[in-house]
Amino acid sequence: MDYKLANLRGILKTQVLIIGGGPSGLLLSQVLMKAGIETIILEKQSRQYILNRIRAGVIEPNSVEVLKNAGIGDRIDAEGIKHQGTILSHDDHTIRIDFQKATKKAVTVYGQTEITKDLFKAQDNLNAKIFHGIKNIRVENLCEKSPRIIFDTETDEQKYIEADFIAGCDGFHGISRSWIPEKNLSVYENRYPFGWLGILSETPPVNDELIYSSSSSGFALASMRSSKLSRYYIQCDLETKPEDYTDDFFWLELKKRLPKKYSEKLITGPSIEKSIAPLRSFVVEPIQYGKLYLAGDAAHIVPPTGAKGLNLAISDIYYLSQAFITFYNDNEKTLLESYSQIALKRIWKTVRFSWWMTTLLHTFPNSSHFEKKIQSSEFFNLSESQYAMGALAENYVGLPY
Ligand SMILES: Cc1cc2nc3c(=O)[nH]c(=O)nc-3n(C[C@H](O)[C@H](O)[C@H](O)COP(=O)(O)OP(=O)(O)OC[C@H]3O[C@@H](n4cnc5c(N)ncnc54)[C@H](O)[C@@H]3O)c2cc1C
Repeated sequence: MDYKLANLRGILKTQVLIIGGGPSGLLLSQVLMKAGIETIILEKQSRQYILNRIRAGVIEPNSVEVLKNAGIGDRIDAEGIKHQGTILSHDDHTIRIDFQKATKKAVTVYGQTEITKDLFKAQDNLNAKIFHGIKNIRVENLCEKSPRIIFDTETDEQKYIEADFIAGCDGFHGISRSWIPEKNLSVYENRYPFGWLGILSETPPVNDELIYSSSSSGFALASMRSSKLSRYYIQCDLETKPEDYTDDFFWLELKKRLPKKYSEKLITGPSIEKSIAPLRSFVVEPIQYGKLYLAGDAAHIVPPTGAKGLNLAISDIYYLSQAFITFYNDNEKTLLESYSQIALKRIWKTVRFSWWMTTLLHTFPNSSHFEKKIQSSEFFNLSESQYAMGALAENYVGLPY
């Protein structure tokens, strides 16, 4: 079969057709193209829209390695900020989790927006085929030799693409997951009764490491994107909208929730972005069906407390790209056939960690006195045990692939 992009009777052909041009889809395309495998990306939004999304910021060392191997490590090395530890607090009690001491590793603070920018640039250099603004996407022959995708372009032209494989990288609200018949899919979900109200502000961060703070007023996170750009979050009611919160209210609430020694030195300023994210744990099994392979948020969601969403997307892409490369280079199907099984093992361990961090640090509206006591006791156990702190550090810097 001639894989060179050929417009045969109006049907485009490629080897791996990727639905979704977020970090998962762009990274998969980048790794595969570097290995000589043809890809096409179909994305429903514009490039500008994707680059304006403010999301993840804490990158595991494994993820940095994958990004470097994909040829986009230069800016992360130059501009990423290495964090050797993080602060956890319960009212005014604080503990520092020392990643370096426990694991000899550090995480890197580098925004998802910057990673996406680097990936688009690298994809442009490889002349990647990315269709933006696509609509009405549907699939045919998913379990046959050459599945086919039909869609409308931005200018309402109908197009067909035949591929060897389809990668569903279209996020939680995407379409590809729905192509797996319900009877073949198990869904595991836990919705938390709160969200995170996040703001971005052009102010210096309150601390040079992240502060995860649990207080009687609710959870708060003090994070950053650079030495001049802070990202702060407070736990909020799910029924509210960002417009319901003034900047003044946000800063007051954040001060209440941070330990005193930090809140006293908090520098405030106008927010340049404000959004609410609901918290949810969600996993489907299996994450492959016929010629479809799901990766990233299309397959699972974690609450952001452990900073794992993007990192988990990158580990999926690591497993999936290796599987495609061994298939095309060595005609070896074992990794492709076991992708779901291999990836889900790490996904579930990460889902557990994100759930645990969320449970430890948030105020649950209906928790009993007993549950509140257990929550405090969990925190003090952590603060007094090197082993417990080591386990947190091991998970936070990322489990091995
Ligand atoms: C508000 C918010 C804050 C977050 N904060 C953090 C954090 O601090 N730390 C962390 O690790 N993670 C965080 N995450 C999670 C992290 O951003 C995601 O895990 C990551 O974006 C997953 O990448 P993805 O490419 O799999 O999915 P996405 O980034 O969702 O990309 C999917 C792409 O598919 C496109 N698409 C959707 N439907 C279709 C369709 N039908 N056809 C074609 N294209 C389609 C979308 O437009 C999108 O560009 C956050 C997420 C949100 C929403």
